[in-house]
Amino acid sequence: MTDTLILRCSTGGRPVLVMGAVPDAEYWLDALTLRTTLFRGWDAAATVPGVAPMERPRDASSLDEAVAGSVLVIILDEQAPELASVIRAARAANVPIWVPGRPEAGTAEPVLPEKRRPARQTADHPEQTVNATRAAGGTATGFVSLVGAGPGAPDLLTLRGLRTLQWADVVIHDRLVAASLLAHVPPDAERIFVGKRRSNHAVPQEQINQLLLDRAREGKHVVRLKGGDPFIFGRGGEEIEHLMEAGVPFQVVPGVTAASGCAAYAGIPLTHRDHAQSCVFATGHRREGELDLDFDGLVRDGRTLVFYMGLHSLQDLCHGLIKHGMRADMPAALVQQGTTVAQRVVTAPLSALPETVAQSGIRAPTLLIIGEVVGLRDRLAWFEGTREPMAWAENPDR
Ligand code: SAH
Repeated sequence: MTDTLILRCSTGGRPVLVMGAVPDAEYWLDALTLRTTLFRGWDAAATVPGVAPMERPRDASSLDEAVAGSVLVIILDEQAPELASVIRAARAANVPIWVPGRPEAGTAEPVLPEKRRPARQTADHPEQTVNATRAAGGTATGFVSLVGAGPGAPDLLTLRGLRTLQWADVVIHDRLVAASLLAHVPPDAERIFVGKRRSNHAVPQEQINQLLLDRAREGKHVVRLKGGDPFIFGRGGEEIEHLMEAGVPFQVVPGVTAASGCAAYAGIPLTHRDHAQSCVFATGHRREGELDLDFDGLVRDGRTLVFYMGLHSLQDLCHGLIKHGMRADMPAALVQQGTTVAQRVVTAPLSALPETVAQSGIRAPTLLIIGEVVGLRDRLAWFEGTREPMAWAENPDR
């Protein structure tokens, strides 16, 4: 995982070391500040007057020191290069470790207040009943939920998504899902990562389909957690087709798709009465090396174009659109890691975008937005480079 961060937050003299990708680390800093998490044996939150991220330790010995001086280490990024040394240092100094994605790997676990822990429901769960009757002749033992995790910031998950995670027996997740969401899964649930690891191989789709079936047939509630929305470039359709054929009941929980998330956080309204009356989501992914796009059909006045997976094909996309009649100076934007604190937005006239992006060092995941509405960003950008204080409605401990 890129962007591994080590943050140290001061909790009234008792620091907590949070190790993870930027949005996850930020999320847990919030969680601690807002007293949503209590840790066994001590109340982290009670002494948190305000959390200030501190600098990443520069070398191994200052990292050891930071670990030893902490009251708790939270490891969100299990792929972080420093992982082994952090665990060693924590064990040596007797500092509890919490790994939300893999509780058994740590030595501490949060204690959620009882009222926040949902009762485990099975056959009488309303969604399950509805679907069980729909599933063609199925023996409705298990249940699968396809859940959209949202575009990046963990708290853009829907309430239904959260509730669904809370009664999971198995969670199958991939790369674009914020690791901190796994903390909402019951500690004894099985967690299966099917995205690309360092080996760069993702679990093939057929195996994922089979995994969903196998676990559901064991009578379990299987949550397939996917980045953004499951039905937008997410293969959600393929997955439920298999479930239907096998008669396994399921539900689909929509999520905020990258286009909505990135556009909103970049200050680019996808439609606008004066500038865009339609908006098209397309993919820049190549099939057997070729861009499979109907450029003629895409280019229209008053239309916003959004390309998912467009970074590698950026040059061909921009040239193709211009060749098929789009203005060379049409405003265009590339949004990196939208909705997270690592968000970056590069804008340029369409013809100059590939060059501008090449010089910017921007990294995936990125979303490409093209259209007059991109020009509004000059006035409407509200999020860049800042971390807005979040307003939370719920504080169960108050
Ligand atoms: N189902 C997902 C899309 C999966 S395809 C959804 O609805 O959002 C993966 C592509 O989504 C990435 O290659 C990238 O183009 C885009 N994407 C997802 N999250 C993103 C983010 N936070 N910032 C920018 N692009 C993102």
